[in-house]
Amino acid sequence: MNSASTTKIYGLLGASLGHSLSPAMHNAAFRELGIDGQYRLFEKRPEEIEPFLKNLDKENIWGFNVTVPYKEKVLEFVSFDDEYIKKVGAVNTIVRRDNGLYAFNTDVQGFGIHLKRVFGEPAGKKVALLGAGGAARAVCCLLAGASVAKIAIFDIDKAKSEGIVRMIKSFSPGCDIEIVNSIEELKINDKDLLINATPIGLKESDPCLVGEEMLHKDLFVYDLIYNPAETKLLALAKKTGAKYSNGLGMLISQGAQSFKYFTQTRTSLDVIVKIMEKALKKGA
Ligand code: NAP
Repeated sequence: MNSASTTKIYGLLGASLGHSLSPAMHNAAFRELGIDGQYRLFEKRPEEIEPFLKNLDKENIWGFNVTVPYKEKVLEFVSFDDEYIKKVGAVNTIVRRDNGLYAFNTDVQGFGIHLKRVFGEPAGKKVALLGAGGAARAVCCLLAGASVAKIAIFDIDKAKSEGIVRMIKSFSPGCDIEIVNSIEELKINDKDLLINATPIGLKESDPCLVGEEMLHKDLFVYDLIYNPAETKLLALAKKTGAKYSNGLGMLISQGAQSFKYFTQTRTSLDVIVKIMEKALKKGA
């Protein structure tokens, strides 16, 4: 492509992006919807962030997703009116307009759209949550907003769980959210939904965080991990007759919503989701 190309450039900003599925998803949507755009990976060191953001126009970059470890760092460079950024304190989508950079958080909606599809409405349900990092913040934001009956949360770093409780109480003071000190204390037997928002399960050598005796057939197990497609946790859910899902649908739903922000296309979210799903199936 020559430098005078009219192709608008989009991409993913992060530190280590080797296995990202986002280019395949977004480039398929550009192709199928006939939009002149291209999605790339922008792998940057911390000191490269500010120069990158200041030179977007020179590179013809019109928007990008943001992933770890820059989801909070970029906040100082952008404007936003997005309710989820205000709640979660993290950005995953930035759009360049003629008068500046505008940020959004589509992780919360992405999780919500997919959870509704595979599990149904979470209102009134009791939830056990493993992990209290960035992804768990988005998950809790969605669950608290959806009026779940209870959230019990366990993270090896208690301060992170406390941070989530502070966040939830700031906008949903009536939410019943409890920090527990062990996986056993999550009382999964008594819950409707178990969510893994830790990275445990990404590696083949990782243990399964829960024992078979903790699961039951009326439980839904949602693992945010999507690679591998079936973690040990999900294999155990299958064995016990519980319903389950990995996090690929969340990834696709947040990507589809970002795509709408990038392109302002009137194509429905459902259609974009289907294009992205098809692209990943083909690549698998
Ligand atoms: P993160 O910020 O590192 O948070 C993970 C949290 O889990 C950390 O607080 C970590 O504590 C804690 N943890 C680690 N081992 C644990 C254990 N054995 N028991 C309880 N807590 C434990 O990571 P993240 O960005 O939230 O991502 C979490 C997972 O979600 C990753 O696997 C990621 O790939 C996945 N994810 C999926 C999507 C999607 O679209 N499907 C989106 C975002 C993230 P320490 O920091 O002390 O280790």
